[in-house]
Amino acid sequence: MDAQIAVLAGDGIGPEVTAEAVRVLRAVAARFGHSFAFKNGLIGWAGVDGEGTALPKSTVELCRASKAILLGAVGLPERDGTLPPSQRPEVSALLQLRRGLFANLRPISLHPALAARCPLKPEVIGDGIDMLIVRELNGGLYYGLPKGRTGDRAVDTMAYSVPEIERIAVVAFDAALRRRKQVCSVDKANVLATSQLWREVVIGVSKRYPDVQLRHMYVDACAMQIVQNPRQFDVILTENTFGDILSDEAAVLTGSIGMLPSASLGEGATPLFEPVHGSAPDIAGQGIANPLGAILSAAALLRYALGLDPEATSVEEAVSRALSDGLRTADLALPGARRVSTREMGAAVVERLAG
Ligand code: NAD
Repeated sequence: MDAQIAVLAGDGIGPEVTAEAVRVLRAVAARFGHSFAFKNGLIGWAGVDGEGTALPKSTVELCRASKAILLGAVGLPERDGTLPPSQRPEVSALLQLRRGLFANLRPISLHPALAARCPLKPEVIGDGIDMLIVRELNGGLYYGLPKGRTGDRAVDTMAYSVPEIERIAVVAFDAALRRRKQVCSVDKANVLATSQLWREVVIGVSKRYPDVQLRHMYVDACAMQIVQNPRQFDVILTENTFGDILSDEAAVLTGSIGMLPSASLGEGATPLFEPVHGSAPDIAGQGIANPLGAILSAAALLRYALGLDPEATSVEEAVSRALSDGLRTADLALPGARRVSTREMGAAVVERLAG
């Protein structure tokens, strides 16, 4: 396959972790016979310094012309005071890039070798945690109108339409087909009208997926179950606000924020793949950042943007082998572990790629 990939490394540790993700993608291309063209674009403070804006026009055009966007991170807190909050790169550039991307996918997995870093008890963790949170990203409480404040009253509106629910449900059921074929739809249908519509539409979509098992859970119960019995979940499907909260709760289970990938998908917009972490200015430039969140985001890019499932799995398995072999960046290190740099971790994943 031939594909152009826009690489927006950004600020702080963004360039360090993105370089390792690109290195892994190059190795995948060589092993599996693909041709990927990596085109770099400016974003964040790198964009402000280079072209006077956090998301230069040239970057927007590059993204439009590419099959996928691989993003590092943006934001430099020490420069925050120099721009109004709404113009800061992590607000202005990221919001613009994410426009039209209605599905946010957050795989949450805890490798058994990292169990000691998870706050849960060993008997709860068992042989590891592996769930995928599919969050609706363009609707609900964050966007619904009316919204605003009048005197001592404020209002936010949670609104969803049938097509909005249908398209995110399809993403979740399609993802479940590639996994353990279970969807848990999370709502608050005992109280909210939007949730009652959500449930009705999700049940309708599920009829098209006879091989996928569907169940429903209230969001408050789900928040408890994620820490009480996380292994019961395969795909969690939920709306914007609930997904925001549940995905941060689940993230804590994985051992380090540096481990977490994400994918944002839509119709008619270039899909975006990025680690969940920020620019980590406290460790930038030291070569110690964990690149696995960025590398696993590259795996998601292979799967969701390019449809290369075996290639994606080979990257995920290589990451898993590197961890089983005891390699640890500083954020994962426990006494006795083999501590490696960002680049050494990237190289270790490449060495362990099958294909
Ligand atoms: P952060 O994720 O950058 O860092 C939080 C903590 O986690 C820090 O101690 C950091 O060293 C550590 N950490 C993060 N990623 C790591 C990795 N890959 N390996 C090892 N350790 C890692 O969050 P923050 O400090 O709240 O934010 C820093 C800047 O990043 C801010 O400007 C913020 O707005 C921005 N930010 C950007 C994004 C994005 O680009 N999507 C997301 C979150 C925050």
